[in-house]
Amino acid sequence: MKDVQPTTGPLRSKCEIAIIGGGVMGLSIAYQLAKRGITDVVVIERGYLAQGASGRNGGGVRMQWSTELNVRLMQESIDLCKHFAQEIGVNVWFRQGGYLFLARTDAERAKMERNVALQNRFGVPTRMLSPEEARAIVPELDVRSIVCACYNPRDGVLFPWPFLWGYAHQALSRGVEVHLYTEVTGIERQKGNAGGFTVHTSKGNVQCKRLVNAAGAWSPEVARMLGVELPNRPHRHEILSTEPLKPFLGPMVSVLQSGLYFSQSMRGEIVTGVTVEDADDGRIKMGSRLKFLTTIARELVAIMPRLADVKILRQWAGPYDVSPDGRPILGEPPGVPGFFLACGFVGHGFMMAPVIGKLYAEWLAGGVRHEVFEHCRLQRFDEGKIEREDMIIG
Ligand SMILES: Cc1cc2nc3c(=O)[nH]c(=O)nc-3n(C[C@H](O)[C@H](O)[C@H](O)COP(=O)(O)OP(=O)(O)OC[C@H]3O[C@@H](n4cnc5c(N)ncnc54)[C@H](O)[C@@H]3O)c2cc1C
Repeated sequence: MKDVQPTTGPLRSKCEIAIIGGGVMGLSIAYQLAKRGITDVVVIERGYLAQGASGRNGGGVRMQWSTELNVRLMQESIDLCKHFAQEIGVNVWFRQGGYLFLARTDAERAKMERNVALQNRFGVPTRMLSPEEARAIVPELDVRSIVCACYNPRDGVLFPWPFLWGYAHQALSRGVEVHLYTEVTGIERQKGNAGGFTVHTSKGNVQCKRLVNAAGAWSPEVARMLGVELPNRPHRHEILSTEPLKPFLGPMVSVLQSGLYFSQSMRGEIVTGVTVEDADDGRIKMGSRLKFLTTIARELVAIMPRLADVKILRQWAGPYDVSPDGRPILGEPPGVPGFFLACGFVGHGFMMAPVIGKLYAEWLAGGVRHEVFEHCRLQRFDEGKIEREDMIIG
């Protein structure tokens, strides 16, 4: 792959589409636009690539969801992940070892059965398992607290960073500008019938006809620059990785009750996170806490005693971008045509980026507007048209 660097030099003064946020969502949209010949695009990122949630996540990708739309979107996204290396020319270490969810209560069993039936209706081969059948897949599990499990062998894990580099590389080599260390400080709507925006940044201004807000947990701040109030809230999510162990763990394993999840990377590390409460004060916090370590040590060793002696190499945190119903917020907010939202992805925006980038580009390039943009528009919260996703982990 030819070496292509992020854009240096001044911001261009005008462009067709500006994208705020150089995380996986902004870069996926930029790449998919460029692939369709729309290259008059500028991506504006405050820090380095992968500075936000996209560089801090666990790399899990799955089709096991509780809503039809998410199941179908993730079937397509996993298909895109499978062909990523070939299409983009970067190895993202994608491995389909499956996702194994464990239930501890009858209520969780009922939820699992409902979700598995839904997934099967759309051709996802998830199956219910007894605790002993779960142990046949991961023999090291202590299943004494488990009532049942479900397993889809087609779910998987990947290594997040090369995803961003791959998208950025391909977008840049097709003529898109990607400006790093460039902060958006204000946005003005242009006067007149033509519409459009002037985006003020730390590197000067750029005028654009259309503007995408892909600023993740920071998207409410960005939307407020245009007077739009978004309901998504940041939530700190913590995660750690251990020393590398000889490969032994096939699937990503997750305990529904605690929100614990763990997988083994291609390099052998155990990558694991768990739900830990945090003050909901609207601030984005990325500091690591001892409380996380003590919670995860207890949860992990209870279900996987073999990991009691494993050494932790590093722990970190990042912002989940939590929407009120667990589904993304997309499309143009009322009264601001030309301003496109791509936010509210909670803890599953990485896996959704391939398909959302593709669908957004199809829409912006003048083609079809997929039904996801109707289902996930901002107005649903005022209209009470909410379908809650309940397979949120972490
Ligand atoms: C610990 C953790 C584990 C996770 N695990 C998974 C997982 O296993 N699977 C999965 O699918 N998802 C997971 N997620 C969620 C996933 O990482 C996110 O949903 C996804 O990365 C969101 O991408 P994004 O591009 O929308 O946001 P981000 O990656 O956060 O990018 C937004 C970017 O906008 C930039 N920005 C903000 N304000 C401005 C401004 N004013 N000017 C310019 N730039 C600005 C930021 O610097 C940032 O880089 C996890 C998240 C965390 C924190």
